[in-house]
Parts: sequence; C-alpha cells; structure tokens
Amino acid sequence: MNQLIQRANPRRWQRAVLIVTIGVLAAALHGQGQPPPWTSGIAWPEPKVVDPGPAGGPPSDAVVLFDGKDLSKWHNADGWKIENGYAVCGSNLTTKQAFGDCQLHVEWAAPAEVKGSGQGRGNSGVYLMGQYEIQVLDSHKNKTYFDGQAGAIYKQRPPLVNACRKPGEWQSYDIIFEAPRFNPDGELTRPAYVTILQNGVLIQNHFEIMGETEYRRQPRYKAHAPKLPLTLQYHGHPVRYRNIWIRELGDDHEELTAELRAKLKAGLPAGAATRDGG
Ligand code: MG
Repeated sequence: MNQLIQRANPRRWQRAVLIVTIGVLAAALHGQGQPPPWTSGIAWPEPKVVDPGPAGGPPSDAVVLFDGKDLSKWHNADGWKIENGYAVCGSNLTTKQAFGDCQLHVEWAAPAEVKGSGQGRGNSGVYLMGQYEIQVLDSHKNKTYFDGQAGAIYKQRPPLVNACRKPGEWQSYDIIFEAPRFNPDGELTRPAYVTILQNGVLIQNHFEIMGETEYRRQPRYKAHAPKLPLTLQYHGHPVRYRNIWIRELGDDHEELTAELRAKLKAGLPAGAATRDGG
C-alpha cells in the first residue's frame, strides 16, 4: 500500500513522514527540564458523598422541614392549611430545631389572585435565625421600596435584580447563610453573610448583614446563640410554601486550609510529590 502511495506521489509522502517525525520528537522532549507537577502535600480526607436527589432536592444530608405532607418540624402550625403538597400561611411558623450556618432551600408562591399593592401584596418572609428577614413578596410588576421587595435583606439591601415569577407561580430561594459570631462579652466578632439565588438567579452575593431587620428601627446586632430557629412570616396573606429543606454547614477541615496557607506563606518546596491532573 505504502509503496503504491510513494510511487504515486513521492514528495508528498516524504513531507508527511517528516511532519510525523517532528511531532514524535516534540512529544518526547515535552516535559524535559520542567519541574514535576505541584502538589500541596496536604492530606485531604475524601469529601463525603451526598446524593443531590431530584432537581430542587432535597439532598441526602438535608433536614427536610416540609415535604408537602405535614408541619411536624415546626411550632405554631395550627393556622396553616396543607393541601395538594403545599402549605398556606396562617401564622408565624418557627422550626423546632435551631440552625446556624446553613444552606436553605425554600419554594414559595404569591397568591394567584392579585389583591393589594406594594407591601400589601403576597407578603411573607424567611427569617434566618428568627432575626434576619429575606423578604418574600409578590414583586412581579408591583412597585414598593426597593429594599423591601422580594429577595431584599429587609431595609438593608435590595436584590441585585428582580427575578420574580408571576403571582401564583412557584419560585425558589436558595440561601447560603453564615451566622454572626459574638464573643463571650456579647460583642460582634464577625457579621452574618448571605448569598441568595432566586429561581437560579443570583440576587444577593455574600452580603454583609448589618443586624436585625426591623420595620421601625435601624438594624443593629444583639448577641444571640450560635444556632436559633428559622421563622416563616405570616403577614396576613395566603402565601404558599413547599419543598423546604436545610443543610447545616461547617468546615471540618479549616485546620488543613490553614496549614496550606501557612505553607504557601513560608514557601513550599517545589514539586514535593507528583500527581496527575490540571
Ligand atoms: Mg415580609
């Protein structure tokens, strides 16, 4: 076969052989004189496996606060009505369990029948630690003060964008919350931070919370326990909720991250070990 090609077009064949030879030589030389791949040398444990579950969760390690059937994980649920896999607001609802740093998923829907305007239309709220309100409001073509519309940290920061769906449509909040820290004297040593996606759209990005969210008072921190119950607000409107779950967050390996930072600061030996990757 090759002889046939050589006879047919010897110059083209010679050029092809030359190109292949150069390629092989380049590959052989590649990596020579280079340091080996870098690795931190930190003995990271394998991250635990979490089954993310269906779209919208709950993941396998979540505490399911409401699965559409009952509100047994909550106090003060008497005023609420459960139907068709969702619960309708009827009182301030508070979890029996306390939470600090967390990832929280909440699905809610403002009433399909539009009544009222501004703060008077589909108002509820997710109170992290019972102190810090993420506003729930029908903000679809419903103007109010911007730091009070859906997704606002109430009276502290409007959402980055208005990602609201229409009244009656289900929407989600995915909230990542870092609780504030206080020292034994009750002084704030680290404020709370919150990141929120509404319907998959980022609406708060690691926002530094300034204190309790109040209607008639400026925000301020009051020392409280590291974990407190979560509250859903009843503002007199039949806002619906479903699929509520929460994951407690923590970093089990802060000391390893600190070790790596210290090593980098001190200057790590180059290529202490090798590992494939990139
Ligand atoms: Mg509210």
